[in-house]
Amino acid sequence: MNKKITVLPGDGIGPEIVAEAIKVLNKVADQFGHSFEYTYVDIGGCSIDKYGVPITDEGMKLCKESDSVLLGAVGGPKWDNVDPSIRPEKALLAVRKELGLFANLRPTKLFPQLADASPLKQEIVGNGIDLLIVRELTGGVYFGQRKTEEVNGELVATDWMPYSEHEIERIGRVAFETAMKRGKKLASVDKANVLDTSRLWRKTMHRLSEEYPEVAYSDILVDNTAMQLIKNPTQFDVLVTENMFGDILSDEASMLTGSIGMMPSASLSEGTLGMYEPIHGSAPDIAGMNIANPLGTILSAAMMLRYSFDMAKEADAIEAAVNQVLDNGYRTGDIMQEGCKKVACNEMGDLVASYI
Ligand code: NAD
Repeated sequence: MNKKITVLPGDGIGPEIVAEAIKVLNKVADQFGHSFEYTYVDIGGCSIDKYGVPITDEGMKLCKESDSVLLGAVGGPKWDNVDPSIRPEKALLAVRKELGLFANLRPTKLFPQLADASPLKQEIVGNGIDLLIVRELTGGVYFGQRKTEEVNGELVATDWMPYSEHEIERIGRVAFETAMKRGKKLASVDKANVLDTSRLWRKTMHRLSEEYPEVAYSDILVDNTAMQLIKNPTQFDVLVTENMFGDILSDEASMLTGSIGMMPSASLSEGTLGMYEPIHGSAPDIAGMNIANPLGTILSAAMMLRYSFDMAKEADAIEAAVNQVLDNGYRTGDIMQEGCKKVACNEMGDLVASYI
């Protein structure tokens, strides 16, 4: 297969970690007989420096016209005080909006080899955590109307949290389809004991669940979910939830693995176009030192193959290679353990590629 990938390395460690993911993608292309064509576009601070905007119209067009987008990270102290209308992260919001990326997939995987890095006790993490949060990304309270007004002599602020049936249904379908490709277990997170949006959410999810009889479906309240993620995270396979609950729960879940450098993510549209990126930022404190962990970005590339290109075998090959590198005791500084071999960012990329 021939695929066009727009590559957005961004700022800080972005270019270093993205280079390692490209190395691994090239090895996959060689081994499996595909061809990946890369177009590089500036995004974030580097684009502000060159063009005065965090992404140009031409760059956005290239993202839209490609089969998929791979992002490193944006931002850094150099751009902390630029005009708020052109801040680096504005480019990310713009890409999400322009590409219609309404579904955010965040796998939380604690590799058994890194169990010591988890803040949870060994008896709780067992043989490793492997759950996936599907977060609705373009609706709810972050996108509703907001206002602050004076009522009876004091300021009153209001944020609306609208959800329509079609928005719930399309994220629900992504969640059920994803559960079908994993452990066939889905928990829908809401606050249906209080919120109307959650009651509509629950009703819609129940209707959808009838179309997926193979998926073991359950409802769970968001407050209980926050507790269960710490108490018994291995009970979960796929969790689906609305925008704000998903924002909070996915950050909580990511901490269970103890290593931000390992975590990939995907943002999907209604078609096959998606944006794939590690969950961490541009890590300016270690930029240019060749010590960043590229595995989160490499695993994001694996998600791109699985979800945008329908290349499950190829994605499995990348994930297996990452597992093997960890089994063989290679670690970047952030996940270093006693008795392991410390490697640089580019060496980690070489190792993963060599195991494909
Ligand atoms: P960060 O995720 O960049 O870094 C937090 C800590 O984790 C740092 O100590 C960093 O060195 C370490 N770290 C992060 N990724 C790592 C990796 N791959 N390997 C090893 N260590 C890693 O968060 P921050 O410091 O709060 O933010 C830095 C900049 O990134 C800010 O400008 C912020 O706005 C931006 N940011 C961007 C994104 C994005 O592009 N999606 C997300 C979050 C933050």
